[in-house]
Amino acid sequence: MPTTKPRKSSSAKSSGSSTARKTKNAEASSQNENSQLEKFFVDALKDIYWAEKHLTKALPKMQKAATSEELQQAIEDHLNQTKEHVNRLEQVFEQLGEKAQAKKCEAMEGLTKEGDTVVEETEDGTSTRDVGIIVSAQKVEHYEISAYGSLVTLARTMGQDEIADILNQTLEEEKETDELLTQIAESSINWQAEAEDEEEEEDEEK
Ligand code: FE
Ligand code: FE
Repeated sequence: MPTTKPRKSSSAKSSGSSTARKTKNAEASSQNENSQLEKFFVDALKDIYWAEKHLTKALPKMQKAATSEELQQAIEDHLNQTKEHVNRLEQVFEQLGEKAQAKKCEAMEGLTKEGDTVVEETEDGTSTRDVGIIVSAQKVEHYEISAYGSLVTLARTMGQDEIADILNQTLEEEKETDELLTQIAESSINWQAEAEDEEEEEDEEK
């Protein structure tokens, strides 16, 4: 008999606290979601960190392969920015209390491999090769724009405004570089490549 009473009261107690427990569970799961999101965020940082470091090696090769001085200069300027992008990411890792760690980015590896192929398949000293380099470089910039765009949004969602601001600086530089490449292509290189093609056709006709 004495056992039923405590049981009853304990059951009453647990049912009475079920709302409280639900709230607790919701808190725990939201905390859990938050940490999962943070983990995903850090993973994405590692991916773009690898990509940026890889670009500090890939860009000098692209610069060397380019013929147009304007294009060479644009690539060189962006190489210097890219080094700063690496530094900024290290700053972000530090702010999160995480070790700066690179995790291979398959997408960036693929994009730069494609860029190498374009260079291999075009003739040295031609504007056609420069067109190919611009196309490859813009694919890289577009990848970075989407990666940083997502990272900035995620950082804001997590309330990491300072980190969002740091990443946004890089995002803006990627966008500027993309626009500059479009401008170089449209103002000169595309036309030169087109003229190159016509000269070639004329030679073939002779
Ligand atoms: Fe970058
Ligand atoms: Fe870039």
